[in-house]
This record gives sequence, structure tokens and C-alpha cells, in this order.
Amino acid sequence: MYTRLENTDSLPNDEYLTNEQVLELHNRLIDQANELLENAQNAMSELTENQEMDPDELDVAISATNRDLSLRFADRERKMLKKITKILERFQEGEYGSCDECGEAIGYKRLSFRPVASLCIDCKTEQEQLEHNSWDR
Ligand SMILES: [Zn+2]
Repeated sequence: MYTRLENTDSLPNDEYLTNEQVLELHNRLIDQANELLENAQNAMSELTENQEMDPDELDVAISATNRDLSLRFADRERKMLKKITKILERFQEGEYGSCDECGEAIGYKRLSFRPVASLCIDCKTEQEQLEHNSWDR
């Protein structure tokens, strides 16, 4: 399943994830994604419940709800959900835990703290320095 990770025996460092660690982080990401989805659904049902209306009115209400929902379901949460979805694809490819930039192991310590990390700490630091000036764009 995680072909790349099965080859860790030959690697000189212990930075690569064991299958157990991969599973643990995978489960944590799934939980987090479910939680975010649940929040979105709760926000949605709060807005739609106890409203009886005909189909035309309902259409209008749904567009209004979507607008409202996107405001209520905070920008940060939507971005996080998108990020988790993207990261979960990496599990399927067996590439979870490798840096997007340099391909080096991100390391369990960093991933345990931040399971959605897609860059190693070096590349992340570099990216933040590059983005620093355009942060508000
Ligand atoms: Zn890197």
C-alpha cells in the first residue's frame, strides 16, 4: 500500500514514517475532515430548518443559504478542509510524509504536530520568507 514507506529499512535516518505512524496521522486527518464537514452541515441545517416554503422560494433560500454558509463556515476552515482533502490524496499515492518541494522526509515530529504539513521545515521556512512581502495580497 505505501510502497515508498516500506523501503525505510535501507534509509540512514529514522525520519521516515512507519506504517503505524502513517495510519495514525491518516486517522487524525480523517477525524479533522469529518469535524469540519460536520460544522458546515450544522451551519447549513440551522439555516434551513423550520422553514416551509414552495420550491421556487426554496431555490432562492438555498442560494441565500450558500452565501450565508460561506460566510459562516469560516474561510480558514474551508481552506483547511481543502488542504486535508489534498493531503489525503497523498496517502493514496503513498507519498504522504515527503516534502512537496525537495522530496525529503518531513518527519514524524513535525507531522504529529501538524498532520497537514506538505513541506519540510526547511522548505516551509524558505516559503514563508518568500511570501512575507506578499502576505496581504
Ligand atoms: Zn523540503
